[in-house]
Amino acid sequence: KLYNLVQDLKGNIRVYCRVRPFLPGQSNGGLSAVEHIDEGTITIRVPSKYGKAGQKPFMFNKVFGPSATQEEVFSDMQPLVRSVLDGYNVCIFAYGQTGSGKTFTMTGPKELTEESLGVNYRALADLFLLSNQRKDTTNYEISVQMLEIYNEQVRDLLATDGQTKRLEIRNNSHNGINVPEASLEPVSSTDDVIQLMELGQMNRAVSSTAMNDRSSRSHSCVTVHVQGRDLTSGAILHGSMHLVDLAGSERVDKSEVTGDRLKEAQHINKSLSALGDVISSLSQKTSHVPYRNSKLTQLLQDSLGGSAKTLMFVHISPEADTLGETISTLKFAERVG
Ligand code: ADP
Ligand code: MG
Repeated sequence: KLYNLVQDLKGNIRVYCRVRPFLPGQSNGGLSAVEHIDEGTITIRVPSKYGKAGQKPFMFNKVFGPSATQEEVFSDMQPLVRSVLDGYNVCIFAYGQTGSGKTFTMTGPKELTEESLGVNYRALADLFLLSNQRKDTTNYEISVQMLEIYNEQVRDLLATDGQTKRLEIRNNSHNGINVPEASLEPVSSTDDVIQLMELGQMNRAVSSTAMNDRSSRSHSCVTVHVQGRDLTSGAILHGSMHLVDLAGSERVDKSEVTGDRLKEAQHINKSLSALGDVISSLSQKTSHVPYRNSKLTQLLQDSLGGSAKTLMFVHISPEADTLGETISTLKFAERVG
């Protein structure tokens, strides 16, 4: 209860930042773009090439430095995750250029260990734990969907037949926004979740072979649906959580790409700016919120705004040679915060 009160005072939109460490083999005295990090500020070293040279601070609700562990990151988000069992809608977005650590935060590294498990696994494990603690008063049912948005088309990542058909987003007065044709899998243990994530990753990889590493050019969205029934009154509540690993935010040089690659880039550009527009209009409390401009914002419409809670988690690569992208990521964060 106290937590909810504190949240209300803070507003429903928060912006976090995580700086990835230098990677092994990269430590050839790699120049860092980051001058200083503290709990709520990241200070960037800006050379004259990008405007006025000097040190520029950017403020966040929270900043995680290169040595932050997966556990530390999750424990900060835990109250937000837990509010889903009280009937809140939550969106967590990982934003940043390709290679900045989005997938690491949400899923983990390629070789998963217990310590390296990302937010998706930890969030579900925590919901199982808490729902079990409440089992004398509330019966919870938890189920999961996993979708990919690529070139403004929605696909089911949990399809068992490898079907790549495109799905429609529907809006009906009873269920709100949903994708009725997408698989919806009940889960009750971390093992269930690991199996589903593997299936989802496999489906994603299958489509990558044709156009190598499509994962950096599509959004993936794990949606957790929760239904809770109060055992005394019979009252039902619904909560949902969208865990979104966004497409890489890097700008592609339009003079260098053509055809499919250019089309992809335009779709990504359009949907990331649509997301930025929606969140910034929500944080400024403007009356018109432009949800209709992308599939991503249409899909998440019910979970962005109103009493829903949003966490925009931007990711930063530390290397000086990608500073241009780092600055545009930080500007995106400034705009939505
Ligand atoms: P993205 O999904 O944004 O393209 P990745 O999550 O794939 O980026 O990260 C790029 C590489 O950096 C991967 O090899 C990943 O394991 C590693 N990495 C990212 N963040 C961290 C971190 N916080 N600690 C250690 N390694 C990381
Ligand atoms: Mg990734």
